Amino acid sequence: MKLMTTVQTVERLRQLFGDQLHVNEPLARHTTARVGGAAELFLTVTTSEELLTAVEVAYNAGLSYFVLGGGSNILIADSGISGLVILNRARRVSFRHSGAGVVCTVETGANLSALARQCISKGLGGLEWAIGIPGTVGGAVVGNAGAHGADIDGMFLAATIWEPGRGVFVYNREDMKYGYRDSVLKRDQFVGQARRVVLSAELQLMPEAVDVLSARAEGFNAHRKERQPGGASTGSMFKNPENYYAGYLIDTAGLKGFRVGDAVISEKHANFFINAGEATAEDVRSLIAEAWNSVREQFGIEMDLEVELVGDWDFE
Ligand SMILES: Cc1cc2nc3c(=O)[nH]c(=O)nc-3n(C[C@H](O)[C@H](O)[C@H](O)COP(=O)(O)OP(=O)(O)OC[C@H]3O[C@@H](n4cnc5c(N)ncnc54)[C@H](O)[C@@H]3O)c2cc1C
Repeated sequence: MKLMTTVQTVERLRQLFGDQLHVNEPLARHTTARVGGAAELFLTVTTSEELLTAVEVAYNAGLSYFVLGGGSNILIADSGISGLVILNRARRVSFRHSGAGVVCTVETGANLSALARQCISKGLGGLEWAIGIPGTVGGAVVGNAGAHGADIDGMFLAATIWEPGRGVFVYNREDMKYGYRDSVLKRDQFVGQARRVVLSAELQLMPEAVDVLSARAEGFNAHRKERQPGGASTGSMFKNPENYYAGYLIDTAGLKGFRVGDAVISEKHANFFINAGEATAEDVRSLIAEAWNSVREQFGIEMDLEVELVGDWDFE
């Protein structure tokens, strides 16, 4: 049962957040694929306290909410997202010594790659693999982002997480149930329950010489540039199935360069689907269907999406 009408909720949010709240905000510009419709309500928050207040107001009013980080691992429907989209720009960071290491406490709207650079400049190792990964710490903690043989799981100490209707809890590494690009929070989308929200995270770092860290990060970055295409995309569309690379399977299925509208399967890396201009979310979804069906027909493998389809999709 809705406890407040949408109008009352908007009024409440406006009282609390003033002109941080927008109506009918186009979302494509807030995603790396530059695709997707508008948010019915769109709120930018700049602290984890604001993030907590916003989700609590929405949840208590029966209004659906979605936390948007860098929009680099989602495909938003052309018809957009109803309810409240909260753009997380809470970015406070602090460091403290703990034994031989250093613990980084970071709000989840911080940009992951910028945080990695900050750590390197302070002579703190552990996050070099994240250089060049777009998006926020929140998206990375939820999706267990990783590269070059490392991931969030490997350095995760704790996170402060709001559970709908229950309050704020500290999750340890076991609570997160991390797997390959997966966590207990990423699975919320399939359970159909109101989603948990990560307010801040603690990551383990180790002191190391700045020039060693910089050289390692540069190596990773060069490797990324060599293998991945530029342009607007969501990064890897599918997870790698066991013993295979999704890009290899899609390439072998003959789909490099396959195009629907302005959405194109990259010639450089077949697991990257590029918006070459004015692609719609439906165009991208057609590519997803083509790749999934072709790989199943030719290899008998049913690939899982790494990217999450968000918003009001018409699945008929
Ligand atoms: C060019 C390119 C290269 C990429 N390379 C890599 C790579 O090497 N490795 C890799 O792992 N990924 C990669 N990605 C994918 C993507 O960058 C990561 O998954 C990233 O961590 C997503 O973060 P985000 O802030 O953009 O999340 P979003 O796309 O904004 O959100 C993803 C999901 O996380 C949820 N979420 C975000 N913040 C919170 C929060 N605070 N609390 C609760 N839920 C939250 C959202 O609601 C959504 O369900 C790449 C993407 C691109 C475009």
